[in-house]
Amino acid sequence: MRITFATEAAPGRRNEDFVGATPEVLVLLDGAGTPDGSGSGCIHGVDWYVRSLGSTLLANMVQDDGTLTEVLGNGIKAVASLHDFVCDLTHPGSPSATVVMVRRTTDDLEFLVLADSVLLLDLVGESEPTVVCDDREALVGRTHRSVMDTLANGSPEHHAAHREYVETMRGHRNREGGFWVAAVDPLTAERSLTGTFPADRVRAIALLSDGASRLADRFGLATWREVLDIMEGAGPVELVRRVREAERTDPQGSRWPRTKIHDDATAAYCLLG
Ligand SMILES: [Zn+2]
Repeated sequence: MRITFATEAAPGRRNEDFVGATPEVLVLLDGAGTPDGSGSGCIHGVDWYVRSLGSTLLANMVQDDGTLTEVLGNGIKAVASLHDFVCDLTHPGSPSATVVMVRRTTDDLEFLVLADSVLLLDLVGESEPTVVCDDREALVGRTHRSVMDTLANGSPEHHAAHREYVETMRGHRNREGGFWVAAVDPLTAERSLTGTFPADRVRAIALLSDGASRLADRFGLATWREVLDIMEGAGPVELVRRVREAERTDPQGSRWPRTKIHDDATAAYCLLG
């Protein structure tokens, strides 16, 4: 497999995305940020959580023969045990992350997607990529973001509405009828979208955090096919550059309402041999 990736923090902030790969596996996580003034019950922070869970998953996907769901469940449990004696893991804002995992075995390509990062599968003989994205958070969020989306990013009113939005969404996190992310409970792994394709049917794959996928799914400036073509031709760095370029044309979020003007953006591309 030929793997390339790029990751870039939102300007002036710590990167709360994680990406890693070995010759057989890829992992991408996107940590859910905590707005200034909101608590989390954790002294470590979201960037610590995503790096701890991401590196644990990467190691265990290589060493463990269990299913990806089992590897994720065990990883969530292992990271919880690293801080449950000093942090309040019952806090509704405890650090959480989206997860995309891909593993190549002798004959197959296995995948797992939890929450709103995107997996694109470029299948042999098909012009349009297969898109795997868990839209449960977006569906719940749609009913709570209408006020925030009318306000200019950077204004005190937007900041207050964003904080209220995040705190409202916490009430739907890892609950029946809500949405599911990796946080504290290993059983949330069972809510992931999973699947397997014969490896010889898959030409290439791409993993995107929502800060990178927004070029297609929020801005509508590229199709998924074009996203794959950019990554194959010029590389993931070029995809992130185009996202930043588009964001700078809409500095207050009036054309494309969004919680953050710039988000951490991560893109990984893998061409199967
Ligand atoms: Zn902690």
